[in-house]
Amino acid sequence: MIHYKTSEEVDKIKQSADILGRAHGEIAKHVRKGVKTSFLDKVAEEFIRDYGAVPSFKGYNGFPSSLCISVNEVVVHGFPSEYELKDGDIISVDCGVFHQGFHSDSAYTYPIGEVPPSVLALLSATKDSLYLGIEQAVFGNRVGDIGHAIQKFVEAKGYTVVRELVGHGLGRKLHEAPEVPNYGKKGSGPLLKQGMVIAIEPMINLGTRNIVQEKDGWTIRTADRKPSAHYEHTVAIFEDRTEVLTTHKYIEENFKF
Ligand code: MG
Ligand code: MG
Repeated sequence: MIHYKTSEEVDKIKQSADILGRAHGEIAKHVRKGVKTSFLDKVAEEFIRDYGAVPSFKGYNGFPSSLCISVNEVVVHGFPSEYELKDGDIISVDCGVFHQGFHSDSAYTYPIGEVPPSVLALLSATKDSLYLGIEQAVFGNRVGDIGHAIQKFVEAKGYTVVRELVGHGLGRKLHEAPEVPNYGKKGSGPLLKQGMVIAIEPMINLGTRNIVQEKDGWTIRTADRKPSAHYEHTVAIFEDRTEVLTTHKYIEENFKF
């Protein structure tokens, strides 16, 4: 069942998303070669709790951390750890905030130091595909229009779309209906209506689209161990507009390439 939000509820999600955007900015100050990914998790959790909010992921179905940190061939749901970022890595930082009863969710993939041009191109195409998906996330379109736009764009560049993991509705729960796949047919799927709040999150691979789950029960990596990129925003659909509630603005201000 899809929960359509009132304007007041969307406002609360927007406030949650504002804290999330700023938390991402704080994390971005520390993303560099030599940093342990567990340190980034600590920065995020302290920042979010200082706002009187709660990290959405911590404890979610037993997930141990505030961030999902997915390095190189890890697609999503990686654990922060004692691993130190090194030159040439890419790192996806996925974070959620729960505030005033509502969740927000967003992710960003960073290049660390000298990353091969082919991998930088994957990051840039994945980020572009997120915005192409958002362009289709308008009142009167269908969920399949979003995935179709993402898939068409990235496959034309020779990349592949992860199928097993998808975007989602969110609000009082971190994951609500509908599922928002990053592939699909134009004009298919649920209708986008006033009050829908969804997370759009392309997970795009350089090699095969196939994935494997590690024995920890969470970490998802590419089957061929080639890199994967992930960007995510939470958006709200209104009859006359679509609002991107989360932001990467603070990341882009603070991250030193
Ligand atoms: Mg999500
Ligand atoms: Mg996320």
